[in-house]
Order: sequence, then structure tokens, then C-alpha cells
Amino acid sequence: MNINYIKELNESQCAAVTYNDGPSLVIAGAGSGKTRVLTYKIAYLLENGYNPWNILALTFTNKAAREMKERIARQVGAERARYLWMGTFHSIFSRILRAEAQYIGFTSQFTIYDTADSKSLLRSIIKEMGLDEKTYKPGTVQARISNAKNHLVTPTGYAANKEAYEGDMAVKMPAIRDIYTRYWERCRQAGAMDFDDLLVYTYILFRDYPEVLARYQDQFRYILVDEYQDTNYAQHSIVLQLTKENQHVCVVGDDAQSIYSFRGADIDNILYFTKTYPNTKVFKLEQNYRSTQTIVCAANSLIEKNERQIRKAVFSEKEKGEAIGVFQAYSDVEEGDIVANKVAELRREYHYGYADFAILYRTNAQSRIFEEALRKRSMPYKIYGGLSFYQRKEIKDVIAYFRLVVNPNDEEAFKRIINYPARGIGDTTVGKIISAATDHGVSLWSTLCEPLTYGLNINKGTHTKLQGFRALIEGFITDQADKNAYEIGVDIIRQSGIMNDVCQDTSPENLSRKENIEELVNGMNDFCALRQEEGNPNISLTDFLSEIALLTDQDSDKADDGEKITLMTVHSAKGLEFKNVFVVGLEENLFPSGMVGDSPRALEEERRLFYVAITRAEEHCYLSFAKTRFRYGKMEFGSPSRFLRDIDIHYLKMPHEAGISRSVDEGAGRFRREIEGGFTRSASPSRTTPFGSASSERKERPKAQIIAPGVPRNLKKVSTVSGGSQAMSSGPVSVAGLQAGQRIEHERFGLGEVMKVEGTGDNAKATIHFKNAGEKQLLLRFARFKVI
Ligand code: ATP
Ligand code: MG
Repeated sequence: MNINYIKELNESQCAAVTYNDGPSLVIAGAGSGKTRVLTYKIAYLLENGYNPWNILALTFTNKAAREMKERIARQVGAERARYLWMGTFHSIFSRILRAEAQYIGFTSQFTIYDTADSKSLLRSIIKEMGLDEKTYKPGTVQARISNAKNHLVTPTGYAANKEAYEGDMAVKMPAIRDIYTRYWERCRQAGAMDFDDLLVYTYILFRDYPEVLARYQDQFRYILVDEYQDTNYAQHSIVLQLTKENQHVCVVGDDAQSIYSFRGADIDNILYFTKTYPNTKVFKLEQNYRSTQTIVCAANSLIEKNERQIRKAVFSEKEKGEAIGVFQAYSDVEEGDIVANKVAELRREYHYGYADFAILYRTNAQSRIFEEALRKRSMPYKIYGGLSFYQRKEIKDVIAYFRLVVNPNDEEAFKRIINYPARGIGDTTVGKIISAATDHGVSLWSTLCEPLTYGLNINKGTHTKLQGFRALIEGFITDQADKNAYEIGVDIIRQSGIMNDVCQDTSPENLSRKENIEELVNGMNDFCALRQEEGNPNISLTDFLSEIALLTDQDSDKADDGEKITLMTVHSAKGLEFKNVFVVGLEENLFPSGMVGDSPRALEEERRLFYVAITRAEEHCYLSFAKTRFRYGKMEFGSPSRFLRDIDIHYLKMPHEAGISRSVDEGAGRFRREIEGGFTRSASPSRTTPFGSASSERKERPKAQIIAPGVPRNLKKVSTVSGGSQAMSSGPVSVAGLQAGQRIEHERFGLGEVMKVEGTGDNAKATIHFKNAGEKQLLLRFARFKVI
């Protein structure tokens, strides 16, 4: 188990790994080995006498924790690595809270509400309070409450210091603190915690029960945190509670990659770490081991534009590499085609596997276009985030049953299934149950069980139906005592009537719902088997629910990812690396997001996000933008992102040189002006083509100085059908000389071969076989292509 630190780490990394005299902070740019330092440090601690169960490592995703554990297992053996405490803040804290639930008035079976549950509960509270949903939008209220919780502000604290927490909201939404108070109470009655509560209650547990805190301080002799720049105040405070005495803490992060402020992440945690822990030893890592020199320099030139940052000199000693290719597409659909074609081309040229590619976008909605482009070409891909498996309706229904069986007080689960499958319990009855429960400060389930005690005014028929539902759930509660998660899961799905309901109708949509439920059951079986292998024979429904409640966007639903192209948001890509990265949709109001408005802080965060995106690439990086995009149900015209201008142009490869040129004359000159000054479309009175003005700019030739030094020019010789320069622009194109056998590149359909040419003048048409789009007949008068 002896690790050759000198061989596998550079000098500064080695110093950071072996430093053990107090708190330490590793602050360094992307790809400089921060995660590697953390991993090796854990191995080092194990070698130097620490027990694995005394080490706590907090990562940003469960997947990251798993990978880190696997790497450590290879170094110190699986048996030792198994006992390490590793996971996200939320999963580790929920584990602690389940063990100590009685201290804070919960049971260890508490439910974890997801965002949709919280929103639904807030919506009913807003309605019950007679407030206007247009003023009190559940999403906005939820964000306010979440923000308060991430600052450890409970409803009492909120009410006591409303000026501080409400600001102008106090005028716009004066009832927020009352909603918060009610929400807090209702979650407690339901035995439920939302994601933020997992932090708040852990903090309260440690604050109010010093003996419990002492136990965990003793347990965790060393705490390590990855991606520290994205911790919020609550997370920072809990780490401080645990490490205050022994100061055995090592955090790693990069202020330039802080991208979660919308979730309460506070960049100050890293900026002021040395003030919180005055004896901190700071380590800086400057060598990037991930990316080519060009990619590192391009990323540096971008992030330099941010004012608020710790300046770093990141360099790479890897090869210079190719310049970053910039693609401009006419439409979002074309952007999908360009990227898919480029993937195919790179695979041919460099023999990359599909898993060497990632397509990163700003918003989940952008994935569809790329999915279509890849599917059309039978290229395998996997997609993270978006509507995950567990958010599908039929899965949520099943899970609601599971939740109610584990915790009958769970209000959101109760409301979801009290009348699903239909059992004749209408909204009026549910409304009565809610108001009786609220009046008496008890859960919906308690009200259902004791209707007389809580004054529930219902007729006999309804009473019978409610008691039927109660008997069904109680039957499952009894049965689960001696069944594992999989066995009781199967019983519930069968006996609740869900499977019947789904099987009743044989439409393809219902068929896929049935398959999804079967998939869930298989997943439960695998989960139980896996845990059994790890030495835990009794896997309960609670264990299963805990596991799925805490999946992050980056934690794939399925274990086997295989040889596939990765599609994900930039946020989810944090910490990862790929040989080839496409950052797409680089348009104003998309990336940077339209939400930025005129806030310089928000803009800097978007720029950091773009920095994260570029720095995922090891060998090739491509940036693309589309001039038209279908958004919110309509076609929008976009202009190139200002971030393209932030990158030193020496590191960029212009559109035509990137291999997707329109024509030589549509070259770098105009493109450069576009990214320097926004689109020139409106400024030019001359004929406008789908790619901009087709007149004066046409004469510009690509200039040598805008090509990255050392980058092979690889200019394709381009001729056009008309022998002039307007190929691939709209308007009539002369067909002189177009013959069968010639190869062309069409603006929309890509590469193709002319099969035959018929007719003359305005009626001339050609039959063209396109590589990716099949055979098409094009009226040459309108066709937009060039001969290559
Ligand atoms: P990020 O900021 O994106 O989280 P990071 O600083 O955590 O990046 P790592 O992911 O730890 O960086 O390392 C980046 C890549 O460089 C990894 O593939 C890692 O294995 C490799 N690497 C790090 N240090 C060295 C080294 N000393 N020698 C060789 N490869 C290294
Ligand atoms: Mg990392």
C-alpha cells in the first residue's frame, strides 16, 4: 500500500498531501489536481494511522464520492476503503439525522421532500391562507425560504429580523414569514425535511446537543471537502462545528469555479477561509494536467475578465494542441447537426470512443436538438439531469405509496395517492381533511385515522372509503417488518392497484409506463443485492427511499454508462473531464443567461460557468452558437455570446477553418466583427442572407493573425457553384457546371453527392444523396450549398 507520492504528484501537490499540522486550504485553477490531492491525502492519512471510519470526505455528487472511494480502494484495499465516510453533504447529514432523529423531534423514518413536494406544499399553504398565487408565486416563495435556511435562519429568526431577510420583499410579499412559519410546522407534522432542512437540522442538532456534537467530533478526526467554493453558509458552519476543536480540516477549491450562488453557495467561504481558521496553511497549485496549452491559455484569458477573483497563474506542459473551434449555425437544428458531424469526423481522425465526448449546454431544454441529431446518426449518448427517471408520473405514484408506508404522516405522498388509483375520494373530502388537520396541528393521516376526534365532517360512504384506504396502507406497514425493500415494493405495486391501472390501457404511452415501473422494481432488486454483497442483509424501504431522494443531477439513474457521448448542463459537468468538449448555445440571453440582467455579479458567475465548461476539455474544445433558435414556442434571433469576445482571439479557430465554412468570403473578418460588436445584420442596409450581410463584408479574407499560432491552417479549398462567393446564401444561384458525381456541402443537410441534374434556368433541380439526410431533390434556385 505504499504510494509513490513523488512519482504521482508534483512538489506542491505532495506538500499539500503530506501537510498534517493544522487546517489547510488548497486553492487552485481547474485541472490542477485538487481532487487528486484530496484523494491521495486520504490514502496518506490511512497510511499514517487514521482509521477509515474516522475520516469524513464531502464531495459535490455521490458519483464523485464513489469514484474517489474506488481510487482509494485500489491504493489501500477495498476492505479499509469501505469504512470511509464519503458522500455529499446532504447524504452524510441525512445519515446522521436518521441516527439522531429523536433529539430533534423526528423519527428515523423521516421523509425527504424533493423540490416538487416543497412547491406543492407551499402552493396549498398559499391557497389556504387566501393569498394570491400571482403575487406569492410558489417558486419565488420557495427560493426565499431556501435562502433563509441556507443562512440558518429559522422562522423565528426570520420574524425577529425581518428587515434583514425580507428587504423590499417585505412590501411586495408581507406574508412570507407567515408562510415560512406554516411551512416549517407542516413539514414537522408530516415528519418531512426538505433538502435545506437536512443542513438546518444538522446544525441545530450540533448546536443544541453538545454531547451529540462531541460524539461526532470524536468520530470525525479529519474532514476533507472538495469543491469548497460551492458550499453555502450552513455547510460551512457545520464543518466549523465539527472541526473547531481539532482543526483537522482540509478543503480544496477554486474561486473561479463558484457557480452555485443561486442555491446559496457563498464564494466568501473560500475567500475568508483563512480568517475562519487563522492557522491555515495555503497551498497553490498552478500546473494544469488536464488540458492542452491552448485550452488553458484560452480559459485564463476568459477568467481574467472577472474582477472578483484570486489571481492565479495556471499553465500546462502538455502539447500546444489545436485552437478552439468556433461554429456558427444558422439554426439550433443545424447546430445539432454540426456537432454530431464533428463528433463523427473526430472519431474517424483520432479513433476516439464515444465516451470521449461531452456536449455541454446552459439549460436542459437544449438537449433535445442534440439528442435528435445523434439519434438520427445512431450515435449512442447518455443524458444527465432533465426529467429524471424518478420524476416520471408513474414512478412518483409508486414512490408516494412507499413513502406513506414508511412514514404515514407524509402529507405530499398522502395527497398524491389518497385517490389514486381512483377510489371515489374527491377533492372536497381531501380539502376537509386538510383543514381539520391544520386546525388541530396534526397530520392528514392522524385525521383520517381519528375522524371523530378531529371533527371531520363526512358521510358514511366516504368514511368507509377512507377506512378502506387506511386498512390498505396499514396492511403494508405490518408486512414491511419482515420483508426487504424489493419484496414489499412488489407487494405494494400489485395490491395498491397501480399495476392494474397501468395495464388497463394498451396504448404505447401506457406500455412505457408499465416498463418504467418494472424498471423500478428491477432497480430495487439490484439495490438490495448490492447492499447485501456489501454485508447489509436487511435493506428496508427507508434505505431505498433515502438513496433515491438524494440523487444529484450528475448521479446517473443507471449504474452502467457504457461507451456513450455525454450530454449535460455545464453545472453538472463540474469536476469532470473529457477528451473532447462542445460548449453549445453561446448566445446572448442563453449563455450568459437572460436572468443576468444588468447585475455585474451575476454576469461574473456566468463567466465562471463558461470557464468551468471550457476547462473540462483535455484535447479538443469547440464552441458554437446559432443565429436562430426555437425557444418558448417561437423562433428567436440570437447574437453571439459576449463571452466569445472575452477569449483571446489567438486561441480561437474561425468558423470556416473549423471545417464548417459557408464560403471563404463569409470568413473570419465578419465573424470577428460579429463577436466583437454583436451581429451587424441590422447595421448593413445591403441584402441580408441567413448568415448576415452578403455585400461589402464578402471581400474580407481570413487574416493570419486571428489563427492560433502553431495551429495547422488546414484551409479547405472552396469553390462555389456560381464561381463567385454567394454560395450558401439565399437568392438565385447559377448552376453552370453542376454535374452528377460532384460533392457538395449544403447549409442544412451537410455533405452530399449530386446524383443527377435536370431542367434549366429557374426550373433546374438536382437529386442529391446526402450522407446524413438521405436523398433529396432540390430546386437549385433556392438551394443553399457549395461545391467542394
Ligand atoms: P477541477 O478544478 O476541474 O475539479 P482538479 O483541480 O480537481 O480539477 P483533478 O481532477 O484532480 O483536478 O486533476 C485533473 C487531471 O490531471 C486528472 O486527470 C488527474 O488525474 C491529472 N493529474 C493531476 N495531478 C497530476 C500529476 N501530478 N501527474 C499526472 N496527472 C495528474
Ligand atoms: Mg476537482
